[in-house]
Amino acid sequence: MTFRENANIGGGRASRGGGGGRGGLAVGGGIGTLLLALVIMLFGGDPGAILGGGEQQAPSSAENVELAECQTGADANADVDCRMKGGMASLEQYWTEAYPKAPVPHATLFSGAVNTQCGQATSQVGPFYCPLDEEIYLDTSFFNQLEGQLGARGGNLGELYVLGHEYGHHIQNYTGALKASQQDRQGAESGAVRVELQADCFAGAWIANASGPQGLLEPPTEQDIESALSAAAAVGDDSIQEKMTGQVDPHSWTHGSSEQRMGWFMRGYRSGDPNQCDTLNAASVDDY
Ligand SMILES: [Zn+2]
Repeated sequence: MTFRENANIGGGRASRGGGGGRGGLAVGGGIGTLLLALVIMLFGGDPGAILGGGEQQAPSSAENVELAECQTGADANADVDCRMKGGMASLEQYWTEAYPKAPVPHATLFSGAVNTQCGQATSQVGPFYCPLDEEIYLDTSFFNQLEGQLGARGGNLGELYVLGHEYGHHIQNYTGALKASQQDRQGAESGAVRVELQADCFAGAWIANASGPQGLLEPPTEQDIESALSAAAAVGDDSIQEKMTGQVDPHSWTHGSSEQRMGWFMRGYRSGDPNQCDTLNAASVDDY
């Protein structure tokens, strides 16, 4: 249980994109390629980098389904699509107050492949935010991968951490922070890493507030927090590199280490204050 059972999630801005993508979308190269793509793209700083140009076709007659069956917290606790819709409702509630300058973005759930203004993407790239159309794109089968290949322990709050991270990139699109990842794309102290760690911190600040008296979430149990932390750890650059190559090379980092991702998430969660998430001006990315 993550959402309050009677929470109203009916207004969450999420839909499921047209169901194409089955057949013909098998990815060559297997796990190495997949993980390599994840290293580049996971929780996307810059979708443009590898989108488009593939042979795979995204569904052309994409028809958005509005997830009308998702209305309550109980629905969100039971079903992953509803959970994403509920997460969007809760993120909207929080961020419209915490940072009113940013309009409310939309989340598109998809299977296989999707067309975006940032180009065509397949599930390979992992969840991402496209600043051009201001949408979050997420293939929910990513969560299976997070638990399988990437070794997270699973659980609803880990999934919501992923969504909260992507929504954080939308906020950064309005604060101007997102640019730092374009200007300085890799390395342990790079702009890219700082932007990613800030999005982790924002996810923590959201969860802290969303589980307060007015929020849609239940106060997290220790197990829930473990779920979020293990998801953050699983997508650390060092963890992914270790799994992919058996070696760790901080010079090519784009998202930060497992420890850093957990550290910044917890800094956001403990403070409940996005002003505590100033990774861009922190002397070190280890100052969480
Ligand atoms: Zn990201």
